[in-house]
Amino acid sequence: MPKPSSVTVLGLGPMGRALAGAFLDAGLRTTVWNRTPGRDLDLKERGAISAASAADAVAASPLTVVCVVNYDAADTFLRTEPVTDALKGRTVVNFSSDSPDRARRAADWAAEHGIRYLDGAIMTPITTIGTPHAVFLHSGPEDLYAEHRPALDALGGTHTHLGADSGRAAAYDIALLDIFWTATAGYVHALALARAEGITARELAPFAQGIGAILPPLFAEWADDIDEGTYSGEGNPLTSSVSSMAHIVHTAEAHGIDSAVLRAAEGQARRAVGLGHGTDGITRLTELLGRR
Ligand code: NDP
Repeated sequence: MPKPSSVTVLGLGPMGRALAGAFLDAGLRTTVWNRTPGRDLDLKERGAISAASAADAVAASPLTVVCVVNYDAADTFLRTEPVTDALKGRTVVNFSSDSPDRARRAADWAAEHGIRYLDGAIMTPITTIGTPHAVFLHSGPEDLYAEHRPALDALGGTHTHLGADSGRAAAYDIALLDIFWTATAGYVHALALARAEGITARELAPFAQGIGAILPPLFAEWADDIDEGTYSGEGNPLTSSVSSMAHIVHTAEAHGIDSAVLRAAEGQARRAVGLGHGTDGITRLTELLGRR
């Protein structure tokens, strides 16, 4: 593969700036543009070229990386005539987060306009970009991914191509963020409950980390259990889980703490018990949640 020489970054929020910075550090000629001017001052000092318009930025490089808040935001500049025209025959890698459906529609739009399109998702915070700790997911045409892999490698970390379906990276992203936000909702609820019981966040944190550490081995163990449809409740049947959840709801609500999130989870588990799955594990819900 020839060494990539230039790249354009559209979108200079915290993540777009981190991506552009990594490209600069790797020695690529980096052209940048952002809707609101002035976000590129540090990057310019580091050698970035500031384009006057998105179309000018796109015209500067064979590869354009897009990183804005969502696809509606990306469409405000990508789907303008000068930018669409400038992108013809060039490649877009869209790292903006959104739904799998939006990613597939973006790929269809790109194909209709002769634009080569890869979708991507960034699974780690800005501090990891350019380091071995960054994690990137990609989907779309494999040959296009292979062609631009050397430039993407400038961003550091690991890159995984998940297949030709353009929505697949976003599907992984959404599923993984589901874990993150549901866990975060659980943790802030736990902190509210702890506070009501006179326990500070600092006091709880070391033990919370211990609870968090239980999860990764369970993810691996449950993968086989779910894919094989066994939903084993050995060691922790749903009848026991609902009882544990009820204690938390009871204690939190006695302190006047809103427990709607855990109540919903308890309700789902109780429904599974009611359907005769009390001896199964909580993994049974993966099959029941989508069933009316
Ligand atoms: P934001 O998600 O806040 O995105 C900011 C960028 O979006 C800016 O360039 C902003 O432009 C642009 N933008 C917002 N609305 C519009 C609009 N209507 N039209 C044009 N541009 C718009 O910050 P991040 O940079 O952190 O995130 C970018 C993407 O990266 C998001 O999809 C995010 O989910 C993803 N990501 C971020 C991570 C992080 O740690 N920050 C981690 C993993 C993924 P302006 O400056 O003009 O407002």
